[in-house]
Amino acid sequence: MKTCYYQILEIDRSAQESEIKAAYRKKAFEYHPDRNTSPKAEDLFKEASEAYEVLSDPQKRAIYDQYGHEGLDRQGMHHGYGNMNDIFSHFGDLFEDFFGMGRRQRSRSAGPRHGRDLHYELSLSFEEAYQGVEKELRVPRQKTCHLCEGRGYPKDAQVKTCSTCGGRGQVVQSQGFFTLSTTCPSCGGQGQTVEKSCEECLGRGRLQEIKNLKVKVPAGVDHGMQICLRGEGEEGRLGGSPGDLYVVLRVAESKDFRREGQDLWIKKTINVAQAALGIHLKVKGPSGEDLDLEVPPGVQSGEVLGLKKQGMPGVGREKHGDLKVEILVKVPSRLSKKQKELFKELEKTLEEKDSSLSKKLKNKLGL
Ligand SMILES: [Zn+2]
Ligand SMILES: [Zn+2]
Repeated sequence: MKTCYYQILEIDRSAQESEIKAAYRKKAFEYHPDRNTSPKAEDLFKEASEAYEVLSDPQKRAIYDQYGHEGLDRQGMHHGYGNMNDIFSHFGDLFEDFFGMGRRQRSRSAGPRHGRDLHYELSLSFEEAYQGVEKELRVPRQKTCHLCEGRGYPKDAQVKTCSTCGGRGQVVQSQGFFTLSTTCPSCGGQGQTVEKSCEECLGRGRLQEIKNLKVKVPAGVDHGMQICLRGEGEEGRLGGSPGDLYVVLRVAESKDFRREGQDLWIKKTINVAQAALGIHLKVKGPSGEDLDLEVPPGVQSGEVLGLKKQGMPGVGREKHGDLKVEILVKVPSRLSKKQKELFKELEKTLEEKDSSLSKKLKNKLGL
């Protein structure tokens, strides 16, 4: 089942041309591979592009509105996007508007390009997140080939204009009533062919490297937070500035504490007598040291007592969290003979108190 095009772009079926364009623009920004390196982004970007291609074309939209996806299939009008270059060459002018630079191959090879941002997942234990830590990262990334300086072919190689596309980098195909231009399969959109590729990078112009980096993780970080290392993403091309590296933190859960933002929660069980009389408790804090907790007499089961600033340290603008202790009162399920007697004694005194209260109440109400 294919998702409805209107749903993909999150627009009404009655959306005007300008709304469709704006919706696609939003999606393109969100899933653009330069901005979003999550593995699903490319598929979502392709999906949105396909939806835009159909809905921005009145004829295709009319067929889609009436007959759905099957209608377009029957007319041979379905255009799946094989790769990103297809999209960029198809909507070239649109992307020039959107991103302020042409993502078409021709302009790609011409000017400096900003390097891609990278994401790196860093796993931390709860203790590391509590104390802060310095970590070594081994980041796989692409760098410009030193041998060919990113051209992909040796300096002295013969460069010829591609005969398939005549140097345009795109070929025009007819599909039904439509002509579509796609990336030239012979030259990969470069518009030119060379007699031999660079031996080092096999024509890609880039090489994979592992970069060792250190990152300081501040105390108090939480799962999903990101640390940005400026300029540590991929190298730019032809003098373009490098991208950034986003270190995405994966913080393990604590076996002792439940975390809610910067607050930490634990449960403490006490017995009925302790609840009635109050008790002084020792509670293990996140640093491992024992903390003093005064449980007041008459505490009820489920009541929460707080230890100020004993939770996670604050990061950035966040405040230092508290340690929240939930008190659970355990009622004994088995009593010795002695205990039973004591409880019976106790019960009497409690009843007397209660009945004297209710007597007063009755008097007051004139009953
Ligand atoms: Zn090379
Ligand atoms: Zn070509």
